[in-house]
Formats: sequence, C-alpha cells, structure tokens
Amino acid sequence: MRTFDVLVIGAGAAGMHCAAQVGQGAAGRGWRVGLLDHAEKLAEKIRISGGGRCNFTNRTVGPDNFVSADPAFARMALKAYTPNHFIALVRKHHIPFHEKHKGQLFCDRSSEDLIAMLQRECQDAGVQWLKPHSVTAVQWADGCFRLDSTAGPLQARHLVVATGGLPVPKIGATDWGLHLAKQFGHRLIDTRPALVPLTFDAAHWAPFVELAGVSLPVHSRGSEPAAPWFDEDLLFTHRGLSGPAVLQASSYWSPGQPISLNLAGQDVSPTELAAQWAGLASGSRAQLDNWMAQQLAHWPRRLLNTWLNTSLPEGFAQRRVAELGKKHWLALAEQVAQWQLVPTGTEGYRKAEVMRGGVATADLNPKTLASRKVPGLYFIGEVVDVTGWLGGYNFQWAWASAVAAARGILAPGA
Ligand SMILES: Cc1cc2nc3c(=O)[nH]c(=O)nc-3n(C[C@H](O)[C@H](O)[C@H](O)COP(=O)(O)OP(=O)(O)OC[C@H]3O[C@@H](n4cnc5c(N)ncnc54)[C@H](O)[C@@H]3O)c2cc1C
Repeated sequence: MRTFDVLVIGAGAAGMHCAAQVGQGAAGRGWRVGLLDHAEKLAEKIRISGGGRCNFTNRTVGPDNFVSADPAFARMALKAYTPNHFIALVRKHHIPFHEKHKGQLFCDRSSEDLIAMLQRECQDAGVQWLKPHSVTAVQWADGCFRLDSTAGPLQARHLVVATGGLPVPKIGATDWGLHLAKQFGHRLIDTRPALVPLTFDAAHWAPFVELAGVSLPVHSRGSEPAAPWFDEDLLFTHRGLSGPAVLQASSYWSPGQPISLNLAGQDVSPTELAAQWAGLASGSRAQLDNWMAQQLAHWPRRLLNTWLNTSLPEGFAQRRVAELGKKHWLALAEQVAQWQLVPTGTEGYRKAEVMRGGVATADLNPKTLASRKVPGLYFIGEVVDVTGWLGGYNFQWAWASAVAAARGILAPGA
C-alpha cells in the first residue's frame, strides 16, 4: 500500500499546479504528494490550447467572466490568486509571452513551455508521479481515502479531484470526477458542451453553406436572461456558425432558443439603425441593393449577395430607397442588427473547448474548494461548475482553484 498525505487525480493544468503548490508549501513537513493521470501523454489540453500557444490567462479576470449556477462562487479563489500571480511564475521561468486583443496572454513559442514549467514546479516540490495509471475504486473511512488503482492500492489523507471536463474525449477526458462526486453525495449541475460551434438543420442552412469561411466582426448574444453581448468575430461554417462570437454566445445558449447577432458593425438597436438609414436615404435616387452595399461596406460581398437573395422579397432589392417607409426600414434594420437564429444543436464535446456545469458549487467551500460532504476531499478546475469565457479565463480558474485547494490543505481552518 503506497501512502500519501495528498493525492491529486488528473495531471492537467489544475492538478499539476495544485500538486506543485502543496509540495512546495509542505517543504520540511515530510509530506508525500502524489499526482496520478491515466493519459500516456502529459497535459494534452494545455498542448492544444490557444492554437498551440496556450492563452494561459487574461489581464483582467473577475467572476463576471464565468458561467455558473452561483456566479459569485469563484470570487474568493480568483481574488486570492490573480493573473499577476501566475504571470510572475511564468516570468520566473523566463517564458516569453505576448498580449493579444482584450488582455489575452499567449506563449510566444509554444504551450510546451508551460507544460515544462509545471513539470519543473512539480519536480522541485518532490511530487511523485503515478502515470499512466487509473483508479478503479475509492473509499473513505477513518479520515483516510483508500483507492484501488492500476498502480496497486493507494491511501491518502487528502484527495484532490482535477480530472477536468468532458471535451475532446480522444485525448483523455472522462466523467470519472463527476461519478466520484456523486458517489460522495455531491450534487451535479447538468453538463453540456460550451465554447462550441453551433449547427443548424441542413435545409435551413442550405442558403448559407456557400458562405463557409466568411468572417466579420459582430455583436453576439446567447439566449439566457443573464447572457451578455460579446463583441467578436463571427465565422460561417458548412454546418452552421463558429468564431469567437458564436463560441462565447454558445456558453449562454439553451437548446430550442434563438441566439442574437448584430451584424450592423456598430452597437445600435434596430430602431436606432432604422432611423439612421431612413435619414440617410431620404432624397436618394439609389437602388436598395447598391445603397445597402455602401451602408454595410464591412460585410464581405458574398454575405451581402446571399442576404439580398434570401432575406428580401422578390424585386425588393431593386426598389429606390427614397420610396421605402418607416416599417420597411425597421424590418431591414431588424434583420441586420437583431438577426435571430435557432440552432438545432452544437458540434458537441468533439469540438467544444470547455464543459458547462459539473460539481455543484453549493457543496464546496469557496475559499478552499473543499467538499462540504467529506473531509479531505477537494474538486478543482473544470470539473467544478465554473465555466470561463473564451480568452484565458478557463486556465485562470484552473490555476486559482488549484492554489485555493493547496492553501486549504496546508492550513486548514486558516
Ligand atoms: C481545443 C481547446 C483549446 C483550449 N484553449 C484554451 C485557452 O487557450 N485558454 C483557456 O483558458 N482555456 C482553453 N481551453 C480550456 C482549458 O484547456 C481547460 O479549461 C483546462 O485545461 C482545464 O484544466 P483542468 O486541469 O481542470 O483539466 P484538464 O487540463 O483537462 O486536465 C484533466 C486531466 O485529468 C486526466 N484524467 C481525466 N480523467 C481521468 C481518469 N479517469 N483517471 C486519471 N486521469 C484522468 C486527463 O488525462 C487530464 O490530464 C481549451 C480547451 C480545448 C479543448
């Protein structure tokens, strides 16, 4: 029987950071810290993230950048371990990085730099690796966890679950953490793919298929009451819509409901846009299709042609703009500034960047991520019902929740 003071299951972003922080914080205490993962290749999610350059955090992070049944839950952990703390670690390891738009920080060279950094941190902390291994059963009795694993029987005083979310099963995602949570009486918030492309039924999408590859800046919004507007790029695909605008909206989308897109190129309501257009068109002898091409000059030509062909009644595009009345302008402005579409589905966990839902925060301590059901049990990272926006927020949650648990383990009751 191998015995540990702390055993972390899942050596991804959260798991490696937590094991390193506990190991380093416990220096001199003679603690044994173990890190178990079933994957052959370490930290594949970090490797593929941010197009291979890992958008590892964002300059400004707050609870508003996350979706959760309890939006305030993440506040304490995020405040205790900020992007600046992680940036200091990256700097300590001399990893070059740069800022892209909206405060997003990426590695200059490759995500491999971050994986090597986390491995080195674990090594400095004396973390013992158990990989590739998996756990087949967990029991808790007399203040101790007993695990059956492919590495033999294991025992630990503290068990940290960092097995991540369900996206990209082919690189090792599993629902193990969710099952374990259930086994120990934790409630789960329904899980579904988030930061995911949206799809439409083939018949509905047929007129737009030829737009695959077209991209333009838009304002986008999911269907839920709390959904914010995002100001990002939209991408047409063969099966539907993608690009940052739609990935962000997808995290706030409920099946059967419409997403909203404002393609006007400015933050205006349909009423404001209709009034603007009516004013500009008054006295003009231009034909609607030519006039629209000028107003929507930021639209790729292919999009404009498809829109004119599919959205307007026969012959309407050839009318003189000066002839159009208030209700015509409002109808046109609504189609452009408040385009509402009901997706039939998503591209699923195969293409999702993150999982929405997970272990309910109501059963966790927001300061330490400790279970309120079983002493010594912790859930961190994506397995918890805290889902970040696109832009480095999910990694910042992984780092912050990892440190919260490490501090809770090292100084219980502090
Ligand atoms: C394509 C893609 C790009 C992304 N890009 C970004 C980005 O640029 N910025 C950002 O902030 N977020 C990004 N994300 C999201 C981010 O990768 C995750 O939110 C983050 O990795 C979660 O960290 P985690 O430690 O909780 O889980 P993971 O990093 O997924 O780690 C979980 C670990 O647990 C292991 N595991 C799972 N089940 C078991 C089991 N049963 N037994 C043993 N081990 C197990 C896995 O092998 C894995 O090593 C991206 C995600 C994807 C899919």
